[in-house]
Amino acid sequence: MSRRDEGAARPPSAESGAPGVAPGAAPVEAGRTGDTASECRNCGAALRGAFCHACGQEAREPPTRLLPLLHVLAQHATGLEGRAVRTVRTLFILPGALTRAFVDGRRAAFAHPVQVYLWCTALFFLSHAYAPVVRLDPDTGAITSSLSAVAVGTGVSAATRERVRERGLSGAEFVDRFDAVVSASLPALLVGVVGAVALIMALLFRGESALMHTVFALHWAAFYFALDVLRQLVARAGRPGVVVSMLGSAVALIYMIVALRVVYRRGWPSTIARGVVAWITFALLLVAWLWGTSLLAQRLA
Ligand SMILES: [Zn+2]
Repeated sequence: MSRRDEGAARPPSAESGAPGVAPGAAPVEAGRTGDTASECRNCGAALRGAFCHACGQEAREPPTRLLPLLHVLAQHATGLEGRAVRTVRTLFILPGALTRAFVDGRRAAFAHPVQVYLWCTALFFLSHAYAPVVRLDPDTGAITSSLSAVAVGTGVSAATRERVRERGLSGAEFVDRFDAVVSASLPALLVGVVGAVALIMALLFRGESALMHTVFALHWAAFYFALDVLRQLVARAGRPGVVVSMLGSAVALIYMIVALRVVYRRGWPSTIARGVVAWITFALLLVAWLWGTSLLAQRLA
């Protein structure tokens, strides 16, 4: 956990009027066991206030008795949960607001951008385990993906079909091997997307900070992968794939433009033009990844 997380956990403990909350009240009483600590037990710094100024650890020891302990655990759970819910809600309802808050220094109220990104990519991996991001149809040899409305290349090549036949692999076995290669290449995609989006932003919005570009990229990618999970769910509920794919792309484009406006604060015409360029570049990069991966997967499968 980072110091920022510890910071966000402060309100419940501050509200509880815990001993040692008042700044300068030292030594701090440590829990109900009666022992008092004047040094942080995590890093050894002299304690002053409710949290260690050096490492962020709470000065108050967790209670050792059951009822007080349950009370403190409940405070932590609701504090974290409140922040997580607020973060996710803001990510989906207010494009760009999380990035703006982070850049403006309002950070304790929301989860860290890297954390948000990890939540969404974890969800993405989970969904991938049920419905592969890149699908190979063993009968037709067609390769499709929910990540892109564009069919990936022309499907499985004649040479690959020949090789599969020679090695005596069944269609299902070949699909399994293909899926394994795609899965192995996903982490590279998840890291690469953030780098690529940050780079696109740096080129489109010169003069803004690397921090702004990077945080924007994390939040955008988090939203995009979460949106893909949603798209998968809707697609599995029986809606026609192309419609869902197009609708998802439209939502993502609108989200991108609004987020850019909120974060970079340019005029609407300039924002829309840059948003469209960013979106097309992003879509092309995704198609390039899908194409490269499916070629590689055919080779290695
Ligand atoms: Zn410390």
